[in-house]
Amino acid sequence: MASSVSQTLYGKGDGDTILLSKGHPNPKLLPLDALATALETSCTRSQAPTTHMQYGSPYGLTELRKEIARMLREETGSTTAREENIMITNGSGQALDMICALMLRRGDLVVVENPTYFLAFYTFRDYGLHVAEIDTDEHGLQVEILEQRLGSDATFRPALVYTVPICQNPTGVTLPRERMRKLVELSRRYHFKIASDEVYGMLSFAEAPPPSLMAFDDPQQPTVLAMNSFSKILGPGMRLGWIETHPSHIERLVSSGLLLSGGGLNPFTSAIVVELLRSGFQQQHVSRLRLHYAACCHAMCQTLDECLPPEIAADTHYVHPEGGFFLWLRLPSWVDTEQLLELAVAEHGVSFFAGARFTSVPDSQRHTLRLCFAWLDRDHIVAGVRRLGAAIQAYARQ
Ligand code: PMP
Repeated sequence: MASSVSQTLYGKGDGDTILLSKGHPNPKLLPLDALATALETSCTRSQAPTTHMQYGSPYGLTELRKEIARMLREETGSTTAREENIMITNGSGQALDMICALMLRRGDLVVVENPTYFLAFYTFRDYGLHVAEIDTDEHGLQVEILEQRLGSDATFRPALVYTVPICQNPTGVTLPRERMRKLVELSRRYHFKIASDEVYGMLSFAEAPPPSLMAFDDPQQPTVLAMNSFSKILGPGMRLGWIETHPSHIERLVSSGLLLSGGGLNPFTSAIVVELLRSGFQQQHVSRLRLHYAACCHAMCQTLDECLPPEIAADTHYVHPEGGFFLWLRLPSWVDTEQLLELAVAEHGVSFFAGARFTSVPDSQRHTLRLCFAWLDRDHIVAGVRRLGAAIQAYARQ
């Protein structure tokens, strides 16, 4: 599996292929200078030898928990974020692993969106969990279908719903507030937890970012665990993220042997990020990222509109992303995007992710594909989308 994943990501690997597949932040936007300054400041603080250079708390560095809570209140309008609701993780991927390890049992049912972030399937597999998919539409998870299944089938009882509700990977869409509210209500009624993967939450292009699912959680019956990360903002190499949830869930998660015996997660990196958050750099940086990615997204949409052959364009749909990294293209149902990918890489020098990757029911996404507008500069995006248009045209005429 690993080799086929990287083959799809990197195409022929000859350096000429334009990677509209690669879902990483643009390397030119990673704030290395600011990090170097923050590193120096954090190392010269007089407390350093007794705080972040030592084993840390299983909850994570206290200052970072405080700063994250402040950031969420000030920058996302959160009214729930407080230090005691935050625990530090190695990133959202590790947070999901921890939730599966400590809050679920082998054989439990997990509900995911179709399509969903495909790497999550590996985590569910590792813990012997069953997975059921609920379809999405242009607004995200169809919560009413989930409600119908729960109401009509007494054996359909998920222990967890895994969702990417904001600027989803792979579709780019954000769940409307009413669906968010309904989903959290269902979790209380049917007693399941929600692992809400909100890693693109800070990268919404809108002035007022969408709320976290935490905004709908009830502290009397808490069900939401909102997973978040600095990966998309500062860089995945930081391996630093957090879970925002009710303190009772945090107590369960910090009982992990990894946290108790491992000296807390990343106290050293945490101290560097504390400096960035305190200095106000982070806020300006996120504003720059939003503007940059919004322009790249716009260029991608505009080029798509211009270059899709008319016989295809009439039956092709996409939702303009409102943030994040990804755009999801639904081609006419007779297109097989795995075959299109082969042609696109071999003869047109462009790669994307075929939609079948993002589901365990590949036929349901045979004609869809994911494009990323984050990794490349604007000019490469435009060139890549033109190549894709040419590949689609050649495919249609085969
Ligand atoms: N969740 C989603 C939806 C993602 O797109 C990614 C990154 N591709 C991750 C989790 C991984 O995040 P992290 O680096 O914080 O583990």
